[in-house]
Amino acid sequence: MLLDNQPRVRLMNGETPLEPAARLGNALGIPLCFKRDDVMSLGMGGNKVRSLEFWLGEALEQGCDTVLVGGLPQSNLCRLTAAACARTGLSCTVIHNADEPPAGSVLQGNALLNRLMGVQTLYCGPVDEYRRMDFIRQQAELLRAQGKKPYIIGDPVTGALGYVSAALELCAQADRGVIPVPLRHVFISASAGPTETGLLFGLCLAGGVTVHLVSVEYGEAVFWDIADKIFAGLEKRLGVRPACDMHQTARFYGQYLGGGYGRPTSGALEAVRTLARFEGIFAETVYNAKVLHGLMDLAQNRMLPPDEGVCFYHTGGSPALFGQAAQFAGGTE
Ligand SMILES: *Cc1c(COP(=O)(O)O)cnc(C)c1O
Repeated sequence: MLLDNQPRVRLMNGETPLEPAARLGNALGIPLCFKRDDVMSLGMGGNKVRSLEFWLGEALEQGCDTVLVGGLPQSNLCRLTAAACARTGLSCTVIHNADEPPAGSVLQGNALLNRLMGVQTLYCGPVDEYRRMDFIRQQAELLRAQGKKPYIIGDPVTGALGYVSAALELCAQADRGVIPVPLRHVFISASAGPTETGLLFGLCLAGGVTVHLVSVEYGEAVFWDIADKIFAGLEKRLGVRPACDMHQTARFYGQYLGGGYGRPTSGALEAVRTLARFEGIFAETVYNAKVLHGLMDLAQNRMLPPDEGVCFYHTGGSPALFGQAAQFAGGTE
């Protein structure tokens, strides 16, 4: 099989659910289903678990003993890296580009879960991700000087392998007839790249599905610059070249981003409420709420054929919602 030669640590308990979303689908006039990567056994789940199978696989293959990972205090990547390291028995250090909260602070969401896992946490102040990476590299040097073998999380091609695997899993589930019509459209966030590019690569191999990329971070040119590099890296790593053109297989939407990464939009907040009220499922506002807003807006404007199967790919991150409580304080009921 395609991924058999890649070092991997199993962190998932089988497949994640693919389930019909009949009430919301009926309201939108499309055959809708959800791929639930928010439903996993490890650490409250999320897309990063799939990538961590390959990141930690690489760490162990290289004989590393300490994992370093960076992100904001509400980062899902940091929480799931800490959880995967707990399960695997690797040491983990989380580096937040934020100021350290005062002693005795009440923590919420992912920050709370990190505290419960007792993960070593360092704060490098409110700097950008490049300065954060400089700080992480310095920490890795310090660890090497102590005789440790650090592994820094984040190689995008390695991380994307998890979503090549996810694409094959999704297609196999769709072929088993989870929704009554063939799957033709998949909606997912466009952000740093590994998740959506891996998915796109796998769906390109399978063929027949359009991937709708809803930007939550970058403009189109910057995004494709990142994605093209990951795609080329996957071709090299896996030794296969999808017959399709990635740019033809995907559609990119920049109009649901609003003020930028992490900045909520009213459409996204409304999508969170709609999802909860129609399906009893929760989405955070950085990624999934914006994707869902895009999906709902396109369906309502009749931009999606009423007879073609549509999948909303839920990438998880739901613990972050508890850190976003203030966004709903003004609340439209
Ligand atoms: C990190 C994350 C994404 C984006 O994944 P990338 O591979 O970085 O593009 C999407 N959704 C959630 C919930 C995430 O935590």
